[in-house]
Amino acid sequence: MRFDVFTLFPEVFYPYLDASILKRAQEEGYLDVGLHNIRDWALDKHHVTDDLPYGGGGGMVMKPEPIFRAVEEVVGRPPRCPVVLMTPQGERLTQDKAASLSEYPHLALLAGHYEGVDERVRQHLVTHEISIGDYVLTGGELPALVLIDALTRLIAGVLGDPRAAEKDSHAMGLLEHPHYTRPAEFRGWQVPEVLRSGHHARIARWRREQALRRTWKRRPELLQDADLSPEDEAFLASLREEGDGDA
Ligand code: SAM
Repeated sequence: MRFDVFTLFPEVFYPYLDASILKRAQEEGYLDVGLHNIRDWALDKHHVTDDLPYGGGGGMVMKPEPIFRAVEEVVGRPPRCPVVLMTPQGERLTQDKAASLSEYPHLALLAGHYEGVDERVRQHLVTHEISIGDYVLTGGELPALVLIDALTRLIAGVLGDPRAAEKDSHAMGLLEHPHYTRPAEFRGWQVPEVLRSGHHARIARWRREQALRRTWKRRPELLQDADLSPEDEAFLASLREEGDGDA
């Protein structure tokens, strides 16, 4: 998958892209990220990329000309791929949304700054608007990295265990079960016996029930859309009868 990122602060991206799974994904050819400094397409002497808002008020607004020039030079006019604006006003990023965006082999990501981008960019260049949550950050750089990370994990072959992404929280409509590693006892706290039993069916059932319990306790609204078996429904009914538990 290829991302072309348009930003005023490309340096923000390097450390994160140069570590862990994203680094490996690039080395192994699954992921390709082009970082483009919008300032390089500001043609005036001082490379100005922002200006005062029409109508007054505080803050600066990113000018349309360098953004259009940058995006059109890199991904074509009209753009050959979706152009995604990172904005707190966009559609909220969920695992389902990440899965649908991961179907595209190529995305252009636009990171705003200051008060945001001139509205004509949103109207005439942008095809998708994505928010990473209901809060406001200084710039679209972290949101763009969040999107790149979430989508890269979904590329077949990127994760060592090909089923890991399927089991993650939200992938199946549930929060994931808890994890334990060695030592079996730490400060008197034991790893649940079932996980050390080697009995695969019991372990699978325990994990499923933990995932159901956790989702019911923390994010009950997710259960409405989850794919539940009659056994899962019976377990949830028993939880409701039993009342609160640690989850
Ligand atoms: N004035 C804008 C508003 O109220 O909608 C917020 C501008 S914010 C300070 C600057 C930039 O950060 C935005 O243009 C956007 O690119 C990015 N940004 C901030 N919060 C975001 C979020 N929750 N999701 C995605 N992008 C965000």
